[in-house]
Amino acid sequence: MNSKASPHRFRLGIRAKLIGTILLLALVPISFLGWQAFTEQKRVIGEEVTRSHQELSNMLAHGIYENLEATRRLMTSITDLDTIKALNPVAAEDFLKSLLKNYPIFKLVYLVDSSKKILVTTDPNVTLPADWSFTNAVKRSYQGSFSDVFKTPDGNPYMTLESVVKSQEKGVIGVLAAEVDLLYIRELLKDSLKRSKSQGLVLDETGSIIAQSSKGAKTFRIAGAEIADNDLTSVRDIAGERYLITAVSLKKFDFYQAPNWTIVLQIPERQALQAAFELRQAVLSLVIATAMFSVLLAFLIANSFISPLLNLIAGARHIGSGDFSQEIQPSSNDEIGELTTTFDEMRINLKNTKADLDYRILQLSTLYEVGKAISSVLDFTQLQHIILDTVVRVIHAEKGSLMLLDDAEKQLTIGVAFGLSDDIKRDSKVGIGEPVAGWVTESGQPLFVEDVERDQAFLAIKKTNVIRGTLMCMPLRAKDKILGVINVSKSIPYSFSERDFELFRSLSNQAAIAIENARLYRYAVTDELTRLYNHRYFQHRLDEELQRADRYDSKVSLILLDIDHFKMFNDTYGHQEGDRVLKTVSRLIEKSVREVDIAARYGGEEFIVICPEKDGEGAVVPAQRIRTTIESFDFRIGGKHVPITVSLGISCYPEMARNKFDLILFADTALYYSKDAGRNSATLYNPSMRTEEVLAKKGEKKAP
Ligand code: GH3
Ligand code: MG
Ligand code: MG
Repeated sequence: MNSKASPHRFRLGIRAKLIGTILLLALVPISFLGWQAFTEQKRVIGEEVTRSHQELSNMLAHGIYENLEATRRLMTSITDLDTIKALNPVAAEDFLKSLLKNYPIFKLVYLVDSSKKILVTTDPNVTLPADWSFTNAVKRSYQGSFSDVFKTPDGNPYMTLESVVKSQEKGVIGVLAAEVDLLYIRELLKDSLKRSKSQGLVLDETGSIIAQSSKGAKTFRIAGAEIADNDLTSVRDIAGERYLITAVSLKKFDFYQAPNWTIVLQIPERQALQAAFELRQAVLSLVIATAMFSVLLAFLIANSFISPLLNLIAGARHIGSGDFSQEIQPSSNDEIGELTTTFDEMRINLKNTKADLDYRILQLSTLYEVGKAISSVLDFTQLQHIILDTVVRVIHAEKGSLMLLDDAEKQLTIGVAFGLSDDIKRDSKVGIGEPVAGWVTESGQPLFVEDVERDQAFLAIKKTNVIRGTLMCMPLRAKDKILGVINVSKSIPYSFSERDFELFRSLSNQAAIAIENARLYRYAVTDELTRLYNHRYFQHRLDEELQRADRYDSKVSLILLDIDHFKMFNDTYGHQEGDRVLKTVSRLIEKSVREVDIAARYGGEEFIVICPEKDGEGAVVPAQRIRTTIESFDFRIGGKHVPITVSLGISCYPEMARNKFDLILFADTALYYSKDAGRNSATLYNPSMRTEEVLAKKGEKKAP
């Protein structure tokens, strides 16, 4: 048988499905929770960083603002000093020098009078810019005093601070100007961010960097006014990297007086959220590890399913290919194992059913063969042999016999036997009702005795001579008539099965039909009294034998015989004794000829024998044998010997006669010559014999 699917060609096998499912079950929650944890941590860290940035930048902004404010107040209080108001260069110079010494925030200080003349300076090289005007300086001083931020050639930021000098009488009389070093802002930033990865920047109004905590830090342009009221917190791209940014304006402390500076604290998101990214990495590793573990686990689980399944499939394949003999052992102690066990039970059932079917097919084909074989056999003896041989062979019996019922004598006689001694065969005549065949005949019931020594029912039938073994007896029944019995036996008890018995029954039924047919046929072709073939059959067989002789260029001889003075015998002893003689003579004729010779009752007390493949001379031998056998037979009537003799005539085809008519006529002529010669003799026809005389005599005989 061809199988369409191989076990390894499933479209999506259990293994793949299981791996997929377990992967999904394991990875979806981990990934989801991992992602949640990551985003949550990112958010928390982001908020935390932003909050601390905000706090620190406000602190820084406030510090810077306070510092600038203090410087401004210091300048204002200096301009109130009499030493300065007096505009006395000598006294002021000393004062300013000591000021510079005590407050390093001042890079240089100088005093200008209303005629733009530098009265006192801590640096003799200082000159006023060309566009410097006293009036503007006064105006600036009122606006808040701080100038823009400048840078020294080596990049240090500074700014100028101007404060007016007023006298009570004359009003504004001069301007005290100072350059304020802003380098301290950078130190402040550096100090504040010493242990932090954040960068701090201070930007002026134009966005230029006044100070920064680390060199090379970059930020984006922020207009101070935008954030005067609200601090800015934002995530922005700077030079291709994302930054968390917090910006605070100094304006928030004093909108009019404070410089428009912005304090920026920023940190690359990558650094700020490093912990979150590490978590993400850990989650990713966990996902990968879980995936690998899941695949391994699924693989193992799948294998624990698949190997018993493959085992089951392998078993199923055996069955599929028609092999029911392979036991399927469950390889697991689970549902699949149970399925396998059930499957194996199914296999056993199938096996039994198949064996049963096979047996039935064998039975049917045997019956068919037997039926065919025996239905064509009409020869009674041959038929009995065939029947018994077949039954013994098919049933595997050790011994067997076929017994036929003689209606007249009310007894069973062994027709043919197998495995029985000749003595038993000859002696076995069983009366109706006698054990065992007689009982079967009488009851019409078959016997199936599995153990003859133990079966009480059987022992009730047969009380003596019980020989160990098993036996079966079946009545041969045709229509309502029992024709006989078939017996089979074996020396080992229980060696016949129920099936054997059923087959035996079927065979016996077939046999009975065949025997009945043969019996009917025998009735049709035999003579009732003598049981020799009748005249009609003789004619038919002679035709056949003559044709055969033509075909094979061989010969056929005829022996015609007639009992001498039989009329007288009848007249003397009566017709019944005559009939008895006819029967006996028939048996003696049969005994005296070959099996191939065909003996028939020709009519009345005349008999005829066809001798195929014998010439005339050859046929004289059996003719003489018949004659002497009958002559020497001791016919007794009422205890007294009565001699019986016969006269015989022999002719041969094609030696003497060229056709059937002549063949019979010439045998008759020869017989006539035997009678004429004094009877009890056999005569071979020869052409010199006068056939017309015989014909004439027959005509004469028939006439009256
Ligand atoms: P022959 O020696 O010349 O043959 O003398 P025969 O008395 O036998 O003469 P024939 O052949 O004429 O006589 C035949 C007799 O056979 C006549 C009849 O009484 C007897 N017969 C024929 N058929 C039967 C039969 O079926 N039963 C009995 N009992 N006698 C028969
Ligand atoms: Mg006669
Ligand atoms: Mg006669």
